[in-house]
Amino acid sequence: MSDQKTADIQRRTEAVKDQLIRKGLLAEEDVQHFLDLAEEWKPENGARVVARAWTDPEFRQRLLDDATSACAEMGYTGLQGEYIVALENTPELHNVVVCTQCSCTAWPVLGLPPDWYKSPEYRARVVRQPRRVLSEMGLELSPDIGVRVWETSAETRYMVIPLRPSGTEALGVDDLSALVTREALIGVALASQCER
Ligand code: FE
Repeated sequence: MSDQKTADIQRRTEAVKDQLIRKGLLAEEDVQHFLDLAEEWKPENGARVVARAWTDPEFRQRLLDDATSACAEMGYTGLQGEYIVALENTPELHNVVVCTQCSCTAWPVLGLPPDWYKSPEYRARVVRQPRRVLSEMGLELSPDIGVRVWETSAETRYMVIPLRPSGTEALGVDDLSALVTREALIGVALASQCER
């Protein structure tokens, strides 16, 4: 181990970018194009997909049959969304997603991965001790609920369809989608019922 100080991520990123541009491997426009795209990748998209699945049984079935097409139907498609699989939570089964290799998420519906999702700790431990990791993240699951951990990869990007909270029968799609967080779409939280 060297005791040499490492520059912060911002400076390292700039240095790598400068080198790639200098070597002709990347253009400034490519970076801007990616940044523009990234603005459109957000968990609010996945939340809208879930809210629609909760309220539209035919859409829910299409989502379970072929999530890539169902998400594309709502405009959520493209890079890292080429093969999306939706995992439906039930009262008996809770799904949680991890990429043990790196940090894959379904960008069009989940957005770029949060830092905790990329951490070696989450990636290693959620596979071995899912209940404990979920509990440490604030999600206590009753022992009679099964937990299934799904390894997402560069090829297959999972999204979780959380259970619709009780007492939300009167809510429309907009209000319902506000209950679904990025954490719920990864499976480390439930869809919460906001104070109203
Ligand atoms: Fe990955």
